[in-house]
Amino acid sequence: MQTLDNLFIYNSLTKTKEKFIPITKGAVGMYVCGPTVYSNVHLGNCRTFLSFDLVFRYLKHLGYKVRYVRNITDAGHLENDGESGEDPILKKARIEQLEPMEVVQKYTVDFHTVMAKFNALPPSIEPTATGHIIEQIEIIKKIMDAGYAYEKNGSVYFDVLKFSESHDYGKLSGRQLEDMISNTRELAAQSDKKNPQDFALWKKADPQHIMRWPSPWSVGFPGWHLECTAMSTKYLGETFDIHGGGMDLKFPHHECEIAQAEACYETAPVNYWMHSNMLTLNGRKMAKSTGNFILPEQMFTGENDILNKPFAPSVIKFFIYQAHYRSILDFSSDALEASEKGYNRLMEAVKMIENLPHAKTNSIDIESWRQQCYDAMNDDFNSPILIAQLFEAAKWIYAAKEGKETFTAEGIQLLQKTMNDFLFDVLGLEPPSNTIGLSESKLNAVINLLIEIRNHARENKDFATSDKIRDRLAAEGIQLKDGKEGTTFQLN
Ligand code: AMP
Ligand code: ZN
Repeated sequence: MQTLDNLFIYNSLTKTKEKFIPITKGAVGMYVCGPTVYSNVHLGNCRTFLSFDLVFRYLKHLGYKVRYVRNITDAGHLENDGESGEDPILKKARIEQLEPMEVVQKYTVDFHTVMAKFNALPPSIEPTATGHIIEQIEIIKKIMDAGYAYEKNGSVYFDVLKFSESHDYGKLSGRQLEDMISNTRELAAQSDKKNPQDFALWKKADPQHIMRWPSPWSVGFPGWHLECTAMSTKYLGETFDIHGGGMDLKFPHHECEIAQAEACYETAPVNYWMHSNMLTLNGRKMAKSTGNFILPEQMFTGENDILNKPFAPSVIKFFIYQAHYRSILDFSSDALEASEKGYNRLMEAVKMIENLPHAKTNSIDIESWRQQCYDAMNDDFNSPILIAQLFEAAKWIYAAKEGKETFTAEGIQLLQKTMNDFLFDVLGLEPPSNTIGLSESKLNAVINLLIEIRNHARENKDFATSDKIRDRLAAEGIQLKDGKEGTTFQLN
């Protein structure tokens, strides 16, 4: 059966699938770059976070003790994209007339709400950049002491050329130094840099920059790449098992993280680099900056111009997992509708298992099928292959109902356990009854209708019906209270 040493992970650094061997037996340290909280997360962002939720869930399912750290970027992530180089949180604060920390709070809450609706597990630690300024300053000092950073006019830059003399800068992204010159995510005051590919570790704050902290070099703020080095090594150690993020973060962000950590600790920070691929809409990357995006909430309610109907979070998640995390996934209403049909078929099959007739023999080798489910996930978290296996089981279940396949009582039990393990524990889907929740107003309308019917029954002295309504609602945790003003209800 599945054991802890059968998992293979595609390592973006070596570009091969490698057997997963954690630093500490039975335990995994995983860091994933979290969102920059200046706007609502779009479905593209969610795809990346759901990819790593699957990794987290599967590692836990295998029995690993996982410390999963996912940060919140609430300072320092400057825009480049050829424009102002402004901090997007400050920009949003200006536009919405909010304190920067109000912007941060608003969109952190949105992020958590959306992830909870997708039934994603919260990480073990969710540190913020602003909560780790001291740690970031300490790392800058270490990098400067090692000779890989320099100060200019109150700002500190990482010296990429100097670092490259003794280290392989570009090994993750495969970029050559010469090509990087034009591609580096530029920060303001470029002229202070020795070379254009150098990147900021600390920036002196302009007078209008509200988010600022004292440091040995100036009152300013840390560079974006630094927070992840500070927080990953603080909570997971100088070298840890897995670092994840979207493909678009490979360069410069993760390349810079490697450089910072190596300059600081002279050791590779990460054993397995994992990158999830992009969600596209109309063939183009889903992105806030281009307006080519859809928000999860717009999908749940159906209030958008892209989809023909609303979709439950579990259906959207199922659609996402029907592609492997390293493949590009294009989003469309038709593809989602196809996923919804498949999802419903699987859920129907799960409901049917219990009532299957018991036979003397199994016509299917369930043990071997269960192992194939594990084999799929052990092969770099191959969820589409896993889902294909689950569909295979659904086919047998439908056939068994018609007597065309047979299962013993034990066989049925293992089938049920495996379906539950993978659908609910590993993929983190929810049965349809939980996914299409009644809104509060609809729930109120339904209960008030029942109260009306009960009143009518009482007027007709049909106490059997009126008591039945009261008792059955009470059993569901809904207490009816009869008072002078009529009947009210209370949810327990
Ligand atoms: P950001 O808030 O921009 O730092 O992005 C948060 C995460 O979402 C990062 O890991 C990005 O790689 C990821 N991401 C952004 N756009 C997409 C997309 N279209 N598809 C998948 N992941 C994305
Ligand atoms: Zn990061």
